[in-house]
Amino acid sequence: MEGLMRCWREFLPILAPHTRHHCRHHHRLVDRSKRLALSQFFHPMNLQEEMVSGLETKPGDLTCRSQRLMLKAGLIYPSSPGCYSYMPFTVRAMEKLIKVIDREMQAIGGLKINMPSISSAELWRKSERWDLMGKELFRLADRHSKEYCLGPTHEEMVTDMIACQGSLSYRQLPLLLYQITRKFRDEPKPRFGLLRSREFYMKDMYTFDVSEEDAYLTYNMVCDAYSSLFQDLGLEVVKVQADTGNIGGKMSHEFQIPATIGEDRLLVCSSCRFAANVEAISSGQKECPQCQGTLSETKGIEVGHTFYLGTKYSSVFNASYMNNQNKPAVADMGCYGLGVTRILAAAIEVLSTESSIRWPRLIAPFQVCLIPPKKGSKEETASVQIEKLYDDMMEILPLMKGETILDDRTHLTIGKRLNDANKMGYPYVVIAGKKALEKSPQFEVWCQNTGEVWFLTKEGVIDLLRSVEVV
Ligand SMILES: [Zn+2]
Repeated sequence: MEGLMRCWREFLPILAPHTRHHCRHHHRLVDRSKRLALSQFFHPMNLQEEMVSGLETKPGDLTCRSQRLMLKAGLIYPSSPGCYSYMPFTVRAMEKLIKVIDREMQAIGGLKINMPSISSAELWRKSERWDLMGKELFRLADRHSKEYCLGPTHEEMVTDMIACQGSLSYRQLPLLLYQITRKFRDEPKPRFGLLRSREFYMKDMYTFDVSEEDAYLTYNMVCDAYSSLFQDLGLEVVKVQADTGNIGGKMSHEFQIPATIGEDRLLVCSSCRFAANVEAISSGQKECPQCQGTLSETKGIEVGHTFYLGTKYSSVFNASYMNNQNKPAVADMGCYGLGVTRILAAAIEVLSTESSIRWPRLIAPFQVCLIPPKKGSKEETASVQIEKLYDDMMEILPLMKGETILDDRTHLTIGKRLNDANKMGYPYVVIAGKKALEKSPQFEVWCQNTGEVWFLTKEGVIDLLRSVEVV
């Protein structure tokens, strides 16, 4: 009996796939999902170098580091001015970023919704922004000549939606609704790749409170969530006083990542935490209004923007709730934006070198790249070691399952593939070289974000990756 059991167990791995499906095509998919192989990806490194340089914008066009690196690595593909296709690596990074944003927004009670991109002119006329927005608004008409725009932001739509609820109770407030969707802005000069594009992803949150006092509490809570988000991503951000622009309202802050190519000019105090966009304070001001310290100018990329709106929109659309005396009262609002694709590009802009992409570790498309030896080389037999490492990792660290990619382009030298891995910025690169052939096999491990290199056994590599946080 024992013998029979053992025998049966030994057959299990062979039997299992057969019992699932007989289709050959299906089998192939099952095999492919076992180890993620770079050769199976629609991936930049599969593009010819000349083709890639041909994708650059016209000579004389403004480019920046993130745009150049993202084009060269094939992370984005230009479609029309200011519009890009996002390739698989970019989508992976973006989906992770969205998870991190969801985590922060839901931690403060945010409820995720999804509103249409097509927004009727009627709503925008009601808030008087149909004319105010001018040429920035992408406008279109349907077959009945009814006018619409492609939403750059959704204050009108969300406020109208709340207004139509009628029976909202004060007990349900504060209400924090947010979405992460495509937004559209007809930029006069789209430039810098995903930093200023005409079609982009934005997280926009709209909050409804019972009073101005409560709305300020909500405002600070969302700002704190933003600070915590950027901290999680390891990005240095300055919160600056900002102009309310055509969104309107009484108070506004921008979250700016300091960068030389930044299009916003900021004034930062040398002695306290005061910082402001030059547009937000009177021109020529050299002294900090809070401590009389000296203001110095720097440039930043705006990645977030918060507005206290008061009743600007809620009074127009009559977005009200029933107060504790069961009387209708107008809700007090705030709106809060995060440029999702812009954060991605800005992170690459400030973390990368001229030739190598660096990601915030949390949102890197893959955490680990494994490099087996070159086919026909002296180390070739070490490929067994690295495949074993891959399979053991999958078993012991299930979180690493979708996070590990095997650079199976074994017709290339280890050096060439390490160079590619360096350019792509995988946080960890594990190589099976000469030392993997020793009696106690060791792998060469590159931690690209710190520049450290170690030689570790299989157990050592697994231990190292055990502590890696995955979203
Ligand atoms: Zn100051």
